[in-house]
Amino acid sequence: DPRLEAISAAIRVVPNFPKKGIMFQDITTLLLDHKAFKHTIDIFVDRYKDMQISVVAGVEARGFMFGPPIALAIGAKFVPLRKPGKLPGKVISESYELEYGHDRLEMHVDAVEPLERVIIIDDLVATGGTLSAAISLMESQGAEVVECACVIGLPEVKGQHKLKGKPLYVLVEPS
Ligand code: 5GP
Repeated sequence: DPRLEAISAAIRVVPNFPKKGIMFQDITTLLLDHKAFKHTIDIFVDRYKDMQISVVAGVEARGFMFGPPIALAIGAKFVPLRKPGKLPGKVISESYELEYGHDRLEMHVDAVEPLERVIIIDDLVATGGTLSAAISLMESQGAEVVECACVIGLPEVKGQHKLKGKPLYVLVEPS
């Protein structure tokens, strides 16, 4: 698919951000490139439009940039999965490991119904820890996670082993 090359080319790599030794994959340049951004959304929409998905869940913050246009195009609702303390209603919470320490994701308990079919979107998967926490939130409400989808998959750690057996769909690997 030639669109994948345009997407890859639009992602800027910033060495040593946010700390030394990290090659940060910056998707803000993808958002600036209308064609490449549209290709990104189109590919996900083509994949999910006929899969009876009723929920697109996006992980704060960069999952919020890709999830809503996909949700609108496939006729699904968008559910934000947020960092602790941001959601005003009744929430459920799930911790996950970071390189140093841990973090938490939260979701409103009334955001999904049991048996709803969900895809979870983020910009990038590394260890898969973040997506696994997102899967646990959805499953605790009885929703069915059909797949996790990311724009970028780091090749070292595809995340598959930590995604609770759920499929992972990624568009590009870092160049
Ligand atoms: P994981 O939990 O899979 O180890 O890490 C994935 C999370 O870290 C995602 O929410 C993603 O936004 C963030 N992340 C880690 N490294 C990068 C990076 O190089 N670029 C971007 N855009 N996000 C990153």
